[in-house]
Amino acid sequence: MPEAPKITQKPTDYSLELKNKKTLQFIEDVTSNADEVQRKVLEEILARNAHVEYLQAHGLNGHTDRESFKNIMPVITYEDIQPYVERIANGDMSTILCSKPISEFLTSSGTSGGERKLMPTIEEELGRRSLLYSLLMPVMSQFVPGLDKGKGMYFLFIKSEAKTPGGLVARPVLTSYYKSNHFRDRPYDPYTNYTSPNETILCPDSYQSMYSQMLCGLCQHKEVLRVGAVFASGFIRAIKFLEKHWRTLCNDIRTGTIDSQITDQSVREAVMKILKPDPKLADFIEGECSKSSWQGIITKLWPNTKYVDVIVTGTMSQYIPTLDYYSNGLPLVCTMYASSECYFGVNLNPLCNPSEVSYTLVPTMAYFEFLPVQRNNGVTNSISVPKTLNEKEQQELVDLVDVKLGQEYELVVTTYSGLYRYRVGDVLRVAGFKNKAPQFNFICRKNVVLSIDSDKTDEVELQHAVKNAVNHLLPFDATLAEYTSYADTTTIPGHYVLYWELSLNGTTPIPPSVFEDCCLTIEESLNSVYRQGRVCDKSIGPLEIKIVEPGTFDKLMDYAISLGASINQYKTPRCVKFAPIVELLNSRAVSCYFSPKCPKWFPGHKQWGNMN
Ligand code: AMP
Repeated sequence: MPEAPKITQKPTDYSLELKNKKTLQFIEDVTSNADEVQRKVLEEILARNAHVEYLQAHGLNGHTDRESFKNIMPVITYEDIQPYVERIANGDMSTILCSKPISEFLTSSGTSGGERKLMPTIEEELGRRSLLYSLLMPVMSQFVPGLDKGKGMYFLFIKSEAKTPGGLVARPVLTSYYKSNHFRDRPYDPYTNYTSPNETILCPDSYQSMYSQMLCGLCQHKEVLRVGAVFASGFIRAIKFLEKHWRTLCNDIRTGTIDSQITDQSVREAVMKILKPDPKLADFIEGECSKSSWQGIITKLWPNTKYVDVIVTGTMSQYIPTLDYYSNGLPLVCTMYASSECYFGVNLNPLCNPSEVSYTLVPTMAYFEFLPVQRNNGVTNSISVPKTLNEKEQQELVDLVDVKLGQEYELVVTTYSGLYRYRVGDVLRVAGFKNKAPQFNFICRKNVVLSIDSDKTDEVELQHAVKNAVNHLLPFDATLAEYTSYADTTTIPGHYVLYWELSLNGTTPIPPSVFEDCCLTIEESLNSVYRQGRVCDKSIGPLEIKIVEPGTFDKLMDYAISLGASINQYKTPRCVKFAPIVELLNSRAVSCYFSPKCPKWFPGHKQWGNMN
């Protein structure tokens, strides 16, 4: 198998060009030999885990070849391995899924039963994640030269963590990565030279973390060559933060002191190494920020920025117009595609248009299979993927090098940390090939109807939440005739909007407080990632209910049919995205109500109690 490029240890023997060359050669090698690499990856995973309980229970019996694996092992979802995961979480140390010790759980933003999914992981996976990160800048440098001559201003954050009853840490994958030595003690590399000192990224208080990162980014504004965050929503949140706090930030820059709200000592010390009194810079920032229009603010405050590095594929595409506005149309670059289960791939053509982004899956990361999916064409553009697969469907899974151009697939992975034929839940379309390795457009996450940040709300959850809320209407003899929803990202942070058409039988008017209670009940009923976004990260705004005139949903149906929907098969879409439909609904809204407070949220799983 091609060797992963080694990271150089010291700045002195640092040869950037050589390192970039080696990395690009690695990509050439693994993509040219994609099938061979995949065969070896599977063999290695199965050989080292031959004795784990899960593989034995299914009778794989030490086989390491693809054919036996595909014949014997079922294609699964999280619910299938949940009992095994729970045993590990409760402290069972036997080799259940993986022969190597489980080092921690990664808490996915995908949920099961309202709680984050728990992905067991092993120490060595950090190395694989680092490898994927190490590919990004050599690729980028082919298109944008000189990126080693300055810094990246990236807004990176950690989230709260919890302990499982068995004592393992459970936290999001990025929190795990930023807290690891791979990130904290990274050797000098001009490509991981960020304006944010580690201490500011690792600060658990999200306000202090954001404030100090913004302050450091402003102080080093001329050095910044690229800006970004993981997701578009996070970057926009940073700009919004600047809009709110620029006066205090400028005061700090003017005086060379840090605002007293920043109480974390390690953050203060790290920032003080960068912050020097600079009245001229303060004047400049004040001048730009006090203008009535913030169009192009990024290019103004960070004039050497060449691109904005944020994920704008999938649901994040809703943020493209806002990013274009703030950045005056700088390239929006999506560099990678990853998850808690596994880091998948990189974008080899990073300056392409966001709508054309494709990710090349790196064949060394895991063993990949693909389940063909059919699209139900219609107004909702929904995608049909069966929840459980019969034998024939299980046999339809194809290998990495066998996918067909233009076809859509659900991604299925077998990982070094103990997932076997696991359905990730993402739908991808083959857009082309890099040597033998396919490149995929990210199409969508299966079933997700609403998403603002990392929250992913599906139709069933939404239905359940709405059902709970309408109980508040019972005393008024009112029922919900129809509803749909919309992820409104014109507000920052974005928020969920529900359009309700009521049928009113009673005569007592329904007071606003009742609708507000409905909003809150919906929020309380949504999954923990949503509630964390509301409470802790403040990345999602209060949920809104808009009451629409009677007859609105008939109009919606008429409109859908005029666009070609079948009258017999028409179903009210439970989420709308198409602008004219949103306009139609808004034009018929008679009143609107917001959730009056945040729903409840605690770190960790409900079942574990509050461990922090
Ligand atoms: P998590 O496991 O919480 O890290 O979430 C991983 C999921 O985020 C993936 O399965 C995708 O649905 C989504 N995701 C990650 N990277 C991208 C990307 N580049 N474009 C679109 N969606 C992405």
